[in-house]
Amino acid sequence: MPLNTVEELVAQLREGGARVTTARRLVLTVLVEGSQHPTAEELLATVRARAPDVHASTVYRNLEELERLGVVVHTHLGHGPATYHLASEAHGHLVCESCGATLEAPRDLFEDMAQGAKRRLGFVLRPYHFAVLGLCAACAARATTAQP
Ligand SMILES: [Zn+2]
Ligand SMILES: [Zn+2]
Ligand SMILES: [Zn+2]
Repeated sequence: MPLNTVEELVAQLREGGARVTTARRLVLTVLVEGSQHPTAEELLATVRARAPDVHASTVYRNLEELERLGVVVHTHLGHGPATYHLASEAHGHLVCESCGATLEAPRDLFEDMAQGAKRRLGFVLRPYHFAVLGLCAACAARATTAQP
């Protein structure tokens, strides 16, 4: 899926009747250009580096509103704070419990599980909200060779 540009996101918000303030545009810019999985605090730091007078509460409120508007989603990669993505880039994550490596799960990986859950339990899976934990290939190999 192609990455959104800030202008596309702004247009999408305006179409939906949402206001786009300077702070909101900054938050979107940081999400489009910034690191892959920023926490709210990291986002705030990046916004502040560009616009030192933006209040923390403004950034946090914008993040919440963008999430409510369906432009941004959050995901939990482990025990730490939630991290944020553009909704258009939402994807599942596999996190290694041993070394902390984060893998982006291919889109079709959770599809069979989602279909099974729906068919057998009527449960609608949202596999992107939390990461699935386990061992990465390297740590799994180490765990196997360490056994007697
Ligand atoms: Zn959550
Ligand atoms: Zn690992
Ligand atoms: Zn990700």
